Amino acid sequence: MHIGRWNHQSTGSHAGSNKSFPPHSPRDGKRFPSHSRYGRAPIRRRGFGSFGETEAEISKFMNKTVVTTEEPVFVPEHTFSNFDISAHLKKNIVTRGYELPTPIQDKAIPHTLLGKDVVGLAETGTGKTAAFLIPLIDKVMKQKGERVLIMAPTRELAVQTERELAGFAKGLGFRGMVAVGGANIGSQISQLKHDPAFVIGTPGRLKDLIERRALDLSGFGTVVLDEADRMLDMGFIDDMRSILGKMRKERHTLFFSATMGKDIQKLIGDFLKQPVIISVKQRDTPASVDQDVIRVPRGKDKFEILVALLKDREFSKVLVFGRTKFGVEKLAKALSRLHIHAESIHGNKTQGARQRALEAFKAGKVSVLVATDVAARGLDIPAVSHVINYDLPSTYEDYIHRIGRTGRASLKGRALTFVQGR
Ligand code: AMP
Repeated sequence: MHIGRWNHQSTGSHAGSNKSFPPHSPRDGKRFPSHSRYGRAPIRRRGFGSFGETEAEISKFMNKTVVTTEEPVFVPEHTFSNFDISAHLKKNIVTRGYELPTPIQDKAIPHTLLGKDVVGLAETGTGKTAAFLIPLIDKVMKQKGERVLIMAPTRELAVQTERELAGFAKGLGFRGMVAVGGANIGSQISQLKHDPAFVIGTPGRLKDLIERRALDLSGFGTVVLDEADRMLDMGFIDDMRSILGKMRKERHTLFFSATMGKDIQKLIGDFLKQPVIISVKQRDTPASVDQDVIRVPRGKDKFEILVALLKDREFSKVLVFGRTKFGVEKLAKALSRLHIHAESIHGNKTQGARQRALEAFKAGKVSVLVATDVAARGLDIPAVSHVINYDLPSTYEDYIHRIGRTGRASLKGRALTFVQGR
């Protein structure tokens, strides 16, 4: 199907929705300045290709069948009230509006409460954070002096986890702190002097704090490795090993990962003792996301196409993925110059700036957030209408993570992937 100057490959699940796509020129009819030739895909070295370069791979960016089957309703075995946890904590769970445990919570909480090591194969959006926070808050309340370390791959995930902790722990008389890079280390050192019950951080900063003797893990007996597969991908393995080595010998370890490759299995073998393995991963791609590709003919500028899409009112809350920190920053600026208010998150920004960008997007103050894979991993942003893969993901797994940012909490989402040069 030909739409404007680009081919929009329609698929069954939303045939007919093409009408809503913008025409080939933006609504205001202005021409784009020539400097808007933003964002070619980064030059690729041999052996460093992207996922989605072959036709077979491209077909994975489209869902060809209409998904009509409803998800079977999950009936949990437990309720929050019949978990063996403190009454005050139960009250806080109710206050947060949680009525019933999600599958990962239903299955993992009882084992964690018994002190068993647990491997949770679960992605963001499954409720995995509460699956480890709830039993560990209860543990900290019941075992005086217990200290918990939570390691996460990204600063945003650490901040998000601390916020959930603060909600569940309200009025319980202990605190948590965030130890991530890009934020003032002095203030983190002062917070550590207050001996927080939960330290939530990224491996690099945690190691730094240990080396400065601001963080002493010898009293920590519980650890959560959240998104362990991502930490592995990001090259944190040596830091993780070294940090775990500083903890108490008798350790209670919880391990969450979206995938279970060979490397992950080895880590589980190295770090955990006879773990209970719980998997709530049901399928590769969420049925709630309509996936499609936008083919950009050779010589055409994908930036123009992106601008035209973003001017469509349907694109109300859009997460755009780019490959490099530099490209992401440049793209957000180029969009803003055209009065499409866009923020960016990537590893070259300070933690404060990343958090501000995220909050502005969450609150609907800007409708576009341009992000790198790493920065966007694990983020829980409500009601994202579209995910646009401006640059191809490196792996299929990255693709799945990207599109999982939309179509959440029973809403429908759309994912569009730019495919160039065909
Ligand atoms: P997570 O997978 O931990 O990132 O959680 C995804 C979202 O689900 C977060 O916004 C949580 O606050 C929410 N959530 C987690 N567990 C429950 C529950 N049992 N009931 C309702 N919402 C939940």
